[in-house]
Amino acid sequence: MTLAITNSSIFECETGNYHTFCPISCVSWLYQKIEDSFFLVIGTKTCGYFLQNAMGVMIFAEPRYAMAELEEGDISAQLNDYEELKRLCLQIKKDRKPGVIFWIGTCTTEIIKMDLEGIGPQLEADIQIPIIVARANGLDYAFTQGEDTVLAAMAHRCPNTIQCSKQSKYNTKRLIIFGSLPETVVKQLNHELQQQNIHVTGWLPCSRYSELPVIQSGDYVIGVNPFLSRTATTLMRRRKAKLISAPFPIGPDGTKAWIYKICNVFNITPKGLEQREKTIWNNLEQYLQLIQGKSVFFMGDNLLEISLARFLIRCGMIVYEIGIPYMDKRYQSAEIQLLTDTCKKMKVNMPKIVEKPDNYNQLDRIRDLQPDLVITGMAHANPLEARGINTKWSVEFTFAQIHGFTNAQDILELITKPLRRNTSIHNGDNIYIKS
Ligand code: SF4
Repeated sequence: MTLAITNSSIFECETGNYHTFCPISCVSWLYQKIEDSFFLVIGTKTCGYFLQNAMGVMIFAEPRYAMAELEEGDISAQLNDYEELKRLCLQIKKDRKPGVIFWIGTCTTEIIKMDLEGIGPQLEADIQIPIIVARANGLDYAFTQGEDTVLAAMAHRCPNTIQCSKQSKYNTKRLIIFGSLPETVVKQLNHELQQQNIHVTGWLPCSRYSELPVIQSGDYVIGVNPFLSRTATTLMRRRKAKLISAPFPIGPDGTKAWIYKICNVFNITPKGLEQREKTIWNNLEQYLQLIQGKSVFFMGDNLLEISLARFLIRCGMIVYEIGIPYMDKRYQSAEIQLLTDTCKKMKVNMPKIVEKPDNYNQLDRIRDLQPDLVITGMAHANPLEARGINTKWSVEFTFAQIHGFTNAQDILELITKPLRRNTSIHNGDNIYIKS
């Protein structure tokens, strides 16, 4: 580890008084990704209200998640937790026939010290259905870290022996990628690696619980998202896998670095990677013209901030501040190094990285700096717009397809939308790029 990591002056830590989604929100994308799953959030009405509102229209589509709402009797330990959960899980088993049930622990189960990890295995044996416990509560984690807790719990369940030994025609080293991405993006990244003669052994998670990838000691693992540090640690410590530390495949620069790092570990000389990156940059030219020289401020709420900021700096933007809920300097070391290199290349100052930001202080700084764009949550978006500052909802980056070469355009589509919209309102014209 060099330079950037030791340069502590770019890192700051504030009070943690900031807006973000509760990590239980991860059920909304994970239930769609793992098609035979059911998520049971064990919490209070507060959690239920949050899910119901944050998930919007999804709640009308018979989602495979539900709340186990705790009552007075549960909290004062008058009811038997085991019997109550058994009753609910049997009902879920009968009505929805899932392949796995996830129990999502919340703030309340933490505070009343409900022993979910203790009850889970007993009940699993009793009702004959896998039960995975993940503590995705708002006391310890922010937004996307919810997925991290679920994947870390799933990592324990990956089988460690190969049933039917399928020999790869590409190479003998095994590569498992972790991070939940839509199937189309999974296919795109698999294809990019196949172009380099690298066969992806499996993904954690995959679309069915029964198809979890085999993870053996010595297998290589790599993450696609910056918020998966617990999963990475679990895979290394518990499953004895080798972590490939690389920048994340967000933006053409990040994707190239990600593939390059894998090739490096697999002793493969990358083919046509430089040209592939160049073509993507050329295709982005129209967007780049719109954002070059413009300034951006990340308030920070989803942990994708460093990768996005690095990509935007490479696009020619000036980043004033990168707010981030939690910063794992080890897991993100390659990404921070790429950020440092990108700043040098683009001849701009390294932005300040503010962990656990204080939104109140940030608004003060925004007022002084007057950035061209603020990437923020919904709580501050409209008030800032009313004060003449362009904003982009940060949550959209979590749900949009932003990984790999082909989706770089979608990131810039999101970034430039408020700028294009506000310019067109002022000029009275329409300058939409994408039809
Ligand atoms: S922060 Fe805690 S109480 Fe609030 S919704 Fe999340 S888990 Fe529930």
